[in-house]
Amino acid sequence: MKAEKTGSRFELGMIGLGVMGRNLLLNMADHSFPVAGYDRDPAKVNAFLKEGASHDVSGSSDLAAFIGLLKKPRAVMMLVPAGLAVDSVINELLSFLEPGDLIIDAGNSDYKDTDIREKALYAKGIWFMGMGVSGGEKGARYGPSIMPGGRPEAYERVRPILEASSAKVKGEPCVTHIGPGSAGHFVKMVHNGIEYALMQLISESYDLMKRGLGLGNRELEQVYKDWNKKELSGYLMEITGEIFGRKDPETKKDLIDEIKGAAAQKGTGMWTSESAMELSVPTPSIDVSVAMRNLSVLHDERSIAKSNLPRPLVSFSGDCGEFVKRLESALYASMLLVYSQGMALLSVASSHHGYGLDLEAIARIWRGGCIIRATILEDIRNVYRRSPALPNLLLDPAFSKIVADHQESLRSVATEAIRMGIPVSAILSTLSYLDAYRSEWLPSNLIQAQRDFFGSHTYERIDRTGVFHTDWDES
Ligand code: NDP
Repeated sequence: MKAEKTGSRFELGMIGLGVMGRNLLLNMADHSFPVAGYDRDPAKVNAFLKEGASHDVSGSSDLAAFIGLLKKPRAVMMLVPAGLAVDSVINELLSFLEPGDLIIDAGNSDYKDTDIREKALYAKGIWFMGMGVSGGEKGARYGPSIMPGGRPEAYERVRPILEASSAKVKGEPCVTHIGPGSAGHFVKMVHNGIEYALMQLISESYDLMKRGLGLGNRELEQVYKDWNKKELSGYLMEITGEIFGRKDPETKKDLIDEIKGAAAQKGTGMWTSESAMELSVPTPSIDVSVAMRNLSVLHDERSIAKSNLPRPLVSFSGDCGEFVKRLESALYASMLLVYSQGMALLSVASSHHGYGLDLEAIARIWRGGCIIRATILEDIRNVYRRSPALPNLLLDPAFSKIVADHQESLRSVATEAIRMGIPVSAILSTLSYLDAYRSEWLPSNLIQAQRDFFGSHTYERIDRTGVFHTDWDES
């Protein structure tokens, strides 16, 4: 007999039945959890009820009726746009919720807002969790990577439903309690920062093969599909291969050639860079990827600059196959270095914000479901298994040997790109990060001296501790 679709018995309620909310709720229903949905738009509620008709689901576009469906103490998740919408939903909910109820913000909220909201709600007796979800539409529907933060007791209440609906890798769920307060949203933000850099690196490899080697879309499709079978394998590589094989149904041309080369940025990448700067953690590959998104939208300016600033007339003259192999190796080294920067940021944030992050667990839950999932993450997980407190992956001898084995490819690809005038900002900044990180001596002694010269800012010395000042006007 089918369960009644009413009554205060639904285990979790979702507010916002857009792309993510609808799919995650259906995923939970697939795992036999009675769940209810709310959206201001009745058409979205009806679409959800229709799609979930064979499951124990309910829903309403009336907030009071929706809250009435939920089992007490209630668990209400929201997947609405970050910012004002989250505060507006919380305010509306407050008239209906009771102490002990739980609100979960599963959108891409700024972690600083999450801290404020958690404290304010806790003072009213309402539990609040900031939770990152990665995997896009398909991930939400069939198994995302989930990064829940907040009080561990709150997590325990929803652990079964989150574990059941998350992706699984080798039987392990891609979800774990990340840490207190805003830890979940912070980790999701860094996940997205890494995502920005990986996408920029892949797009630079595309540019090198398209404008540098003159490869066509069929060849590019094959290259990315081949790369996805080896050490570079991962979700972004997989979809890149598929993209080059896709035709535009209207024009019948290759769809990629019909898409404008302008990709805006709207939050998490920039927040990652801002947070890294605030915590004095170098993440140049992420920073430059955000900058390149900003540059990409300056299409009209670039059209003018094109005639004023001609590209060097240097074409590729080497062996194409051999260059593609070097590019594969360079991309691998770059990706390892991007993960190194992201994990180093997490390591510092963990102590600065008191998150107590388990970096091994984070690498583990990123192996499946999320956009940055890649074979590389198995190696990264193993590094943190050996050394949980490692400040940077490059300090692990086995990990750094892999980077060292590929670094010459990175250098030669960068050289070739410079020669041909192809912009590879992420490749170059990643290479410079490597060169600087492994350099015991850096020319920053000169910067100290300059600062002391013009502003009496003092400097530190290599032979004595303390701070020193020189009267530079004295000869
Ligand atoms: P959609 O635009 O598809 O859905 C947003 C939903 O929020 C809609 O149902 C909308 O309802 C509702 N909503 C908006 N404003 C309000 C409000 N003030 N009060 C109540 N409901 C509101 O967005 P997504 O599902 O893509 O994204 C949701 C969140 O998930 C965002 O934070 C996003 O950054 C994050 N996210 C998205 C991913 C993706 O791949 N799309 C991946 C991971 C996270 P209505 O239709 O009535 O306006």
